[in-house]
Amino acid sequence: MAGVLAELPDSVLQLTYLVAGILFIQGLRDMTHPRTATRGNKISSAGMFLAVVVTILWFEILSPLVLGAGLFLGGAIGAWLAVTVETTEMPQLVGLFNGFGGGASAVVAGAELIDVLASGGSLSMGLTATASIAGIIGTVTFWGSLVAAGKLHGVVGDSPVSGTTGHAIKAVFLVVAVAAGLYLVVQPSFLGQVPLASWVPSYWVLVGAASVLGVFLVVSIGGADMPVVIALLNSYSGLAAATTGFVLNNTVLIIAGTLVGASGLILTVIMCESMNRSLTNVLFGGLGGGDDDSEDMEEIYEGNITETSPEEVEMLLDTADRVVIVPGYGMAVGQAQHAVAELASLLEDNGVNVEFGIHPVAGRMPGHMNALLAEADVSYEKMRELEEINPTFSQSDVVIVTGANDVVNPKANEDSDSPIAGMPVLNVADAQTVIVNKRSLSPGFSGIPNPLFAKDNTSMLFGDAKESMQSLVNEYKDGR
Ligand code: NDP
Repeated sequence: MAGVLAELPDSVLQLTYLVAGILFIQGLRDMTHPRTATRGNKISSAGMFLAVVVTILWFEILSPLVLGAGLFLGGAIGAWLAVTVETTEMPQLVGLFNGFGGGASAVVAGAELIDVLASGGSLSMGLTATASIAGIIGTVTFWGSLVAAGKLHGVVGDSPVSGTTGHAIKAVFLVVAVAAGLYLVVQPSFLGQVPLASWVPSYWVLVGAASVLGVFLVVSIGGADMPVVIALLNSYSGLAAATTGFVLNNTVLIIAGTLVGASGLILTVIMCESMNRSLTNVLFGGLGGGDDDSEDMEEIYEGNITETSPEEVEMLLDTADRVVIVPGYGMAVGQAQHAVAELASLLEDNGVNVEFGIHPVAGRMPGHMNALLAEADVSYEKMRELEEINPTFSQSDVVIVTGANDVVNPKANEDSDSPIAGMPVLNVADAQTVIVNKRSLSPGFSGIPNPLFAKDNTSMLFGDAKESMQSLVNEYKDGR
């Protein structure tokens, strides 16, 4: 349908899409470094805004008033979510966004099939093939993301069916979805023009089967593997969007979808390496839910835990030359980043060399700790990655672990049966003294005990991260 810009040649639309694509690429490039990440976010958003507005004005699918209202409503919901959702809940939000992207792709691909048939056109093999692929990937992404978000939010439990039965269910519904897709693809060549009634049901069979597949794919994955799933679903949502771009012959959707698909896949690979999981193992292994480790915990902790106080830690810090701070999920929950940053700056003012050891999956999303520390004005130069910081722990006088657990768990290196076996961890026990600050001996995300707490050179500073770090700041100030 012609829109208000329809007088202009088609090259103007394509050129605008190209500009939007360049803005996406520049935005992604900026997002590779924390210092330029905020600018990258704004540039990419500007690209998306441009693409949406031009598409709306060009094609005028609905009246500008309805579309304007949609833009306003969507923008308002987005802004409300951005302001109100806690950073600890960001992964669930990203999961939901991935799901909506996938769902939208599946619906748009289906609508295009109906539209072509309803307007008397014939379906080409290319159109039915791309629509089927977008339908399967988009639907799997939608349901998989809803389950992943529900799991991270603690409202969806583990699968009642796992192992061979779970795999069999997935295989059956994958076969049904692919068969329905193939039916859509091969029909025109055998039967020529087919009435609308016989087409639409097979697309909905495909969507139905892919829905069950999406739920079962994610519900059987648990615990420590969830970040990989979120990254992978992000990639799927991009693939679904790119394929829908081919269905609609829309360049900007192909560019944006491909960028999301590729960057999501790269992130998935990085996450897999950070957690030492192969992708096949994540998807079909069903690991990471965590067994009942209460007996193991008693055996490890009983009689071996040394408790400390802010006063004692202050005395240790008083004589330290080098201190490493290792933050984890608890720092985010306690919103302790400002107190942590203040402690670091006080120590530095007194000539102590302070650095931060950041594990790639510390917290609940990639870059979670970097973002929180940057918010508290900690310099990026002070944040060291796992490979950089690990060799330096042996030259550190004190390591303060605040709200971290799994990412400093030596079981990853020592116990091949553990759900986090082989995951690279921060070897904090190599330091002279380790202070672990958390509220109790409760396990972290993977649900397993942590022998670090029972080591001879570890002392537990029990308490909320913010209160404990603030007490350390106060003690340190009083001691000057
Ligand atoms: P963990 O989840 O292993 O441990 C966090 C610890 O913080 C808990 O043991 C808890 O102990 C403590 N804690 C909670 N609230 C507070 C508070 N207010 N003050 C002080 N301590 C608190 O976190 P890590 O960062 O070490 O590891 C991240 C885990 O999350 C990994 O297993 C990773 O696989 C997983 N994950 C990571 C994602 C990512 O992308 N980064 C996404 C999803 C999962 P206590 O209750 O005793 O205080």
